[in-house]
Amino acid sequence: MLDGYGRTIDYMRISVTDRCDLRCKYCMPKEGIQKVDKSRILGYEEILRICSAAIELGIDKFKITGGEPLVRYDLMELLRGMRKLQGCKEITMTTNGQLLAPHLEELTEIGIDGINISLDTLKPERYKEMTRLGDLQKTLEAVELSIEHGIKTKLNCIVQRDFNEDDVIELVDFALSKGIDIRFIELMPIGIADAEKGISNRETMRRIKEVYPEMKADESRHGNGPARYYRISGKRGSIGFISAINDSFCESCNRIRLTSMGYIKPCLCYEDGVFIRPYLEKGDKELKQALEEIIRFKPAAHCFENIKEVDHHAMAEIGG
Ligand code: SAM
Ligand code: SF4
Repeated sequence: MLDGYGRTIDYMRISVTDRCDLRCKYCMPKEGIQKVDKSRILGYEEILRICSAAIELGIDKFKITGGEPLVRYDLMELLRGMRKLQGCKEITMTTNGQLLAPHLEELTEIGIDGINISLDTLKPERYKEMTRLGDLQKTLEAVELSIEHGIKTKLNCIVQRDFNEDDVIELVDFALSKGIDIRFIELMPIGIADAEKGISNRETMRRIKEVYPEMKADESRHGNGPARYYRISGKRGSIGFISAINDSFCESCNRIRLTSMGYIKPCLCYEDGVFIRPYLEKGDKELKQALEEIIRFKPAAHCFENIKEVDHHAMAEIGG
């Protein structure tokens, strides 16, 4: 459906949990976040009903995220349920990759349409430092296996000053050697993230162009997101830039978010939203009407430049 600014909303990011097996420094404090009581987390039946209502409104593409979606018990059951929903065109997932490998067989069978794997460095020690708990090897194995299974695999990378700027070229070469896309995401001032540490994508692009001056805009469609893609001739895979801070893409925003607690957020940036559970209890008609209302009032643009207005929940709670 169209929102109040005439944008087509056809994509929903669903956070299935606020829990995570890692503690990435820009996303979660060392001690983790205050866990939401399980009774407040939406059950799979509830998520499926919300998806059905969303599909009726023209939202037919879904991304499963978290926290870490794969820490949620029996996530495959939810994905199977979603796959059966009439009108559901696309299901993708974003994961840190630590627990992914054992699920790839089943994900292939379910017919997942794509997996984005977060990877900010290829240096084991640095990966451990950044994620506090992660084992780089596990994520690399998952990347390899995901590609082997024929799943559309992409890497997501955040570049931070004085931390992993020197990883950029290595990561680009790694992704392109495997024939997959890599996307650089600008660090947003959400939750505990210190946006001062984030590096603009303009700078990252400059760094890549120093090594690959022949990099050219790639106009082909790569997904549902706001990334602008570039190609290096002779290489498979593209390099995407998601530049929420320095190159706002709000005028073409196509999404809403559902948190694990059933909070629908029409924009990542603001805390504003609606708890959907009461409408689930009322009935399907009321549920659809509530979603419609939320979409109609989706804000025109984010406000990351005005930090006081930005949602202070951790990215893992909101669902990145
Ligand atoms: N745990 C999964 C993962 O890491 O891919 C899914 C959830 S995570 C919140 C989704 C994405 O959000 C990751 O690629 C992560 O790097 C990114 N992210 C986390 N905090 C961010 C921030 N402040 N600004 C921009 N991206 C952020
Ligand atoms: Fe967990 Fe993903 Fe946040 Fe890292 S970015 S702490 S893996 S939710």
